[in-house]
Formats: sequence, structure tokens, C-alpha cells
Amino acid sequence: MTTHGSGIYYEMGPKLDLIPPYDARSGDHFWIVPVVYRVNPVNFSPSESVHLDRENLVMVAGVGCYYCERVYEPRLLRRRCPGEPK
Ligand SMILES: [Zn+2]
Repeated sequence: MTTHGSGIYYEMGPKLDLIPPYDARSGDHFWIVPVVYRVNPVNFSPSESVHLDRENLVMVAGVGCYYCERVYEPRLLRRRCPGEPK
């Protein structure tokens, strides 16, 4: 599968997941900004290109932690991540 947007192309498998597992020793949050693109699955195959461009961008959520799903607040920088939603 090829993804591209803004002239940048990525070759990737059917799913890209580079998120590291939660580290209970450090308790670090993993801050992310979820971004959602619309795709058309009609006639979709693994060799298709996915256009990650502005035309297909449908949502940009606020900053939050992937592990605990808390919305970013400065005070959370001083608190350990519990590693899961509460
Ligand atoms: Zn967290």
C-alpha cells in the first residue's frame, strides 16, 4: 500500500503501527494527535494508493495520551501515566 499527501509517499503494510508498548517503569505518557482521513473502499486493494491529502482530511482531534486517553493538560506532565483509561 502506498500513502501520500503533500508530495510525500510512504510504502507500508496493510497496517502501520509504530506505537511503543507502555513502559510501567517510566510511566511516560505517549502524546499523540489523532488524524482521520476519508477513504473510498470501493475496488480497494493492498496495492492501492491512499491519499493522505487535505481533500480527504476529515478530523484532527486534540492532543491526548494514547495509553490513558486523557486530553493533554500541563499538569499531566508531572503525573505518571496509568497505562490505561480510567
Ligand atoms: Zn497517559
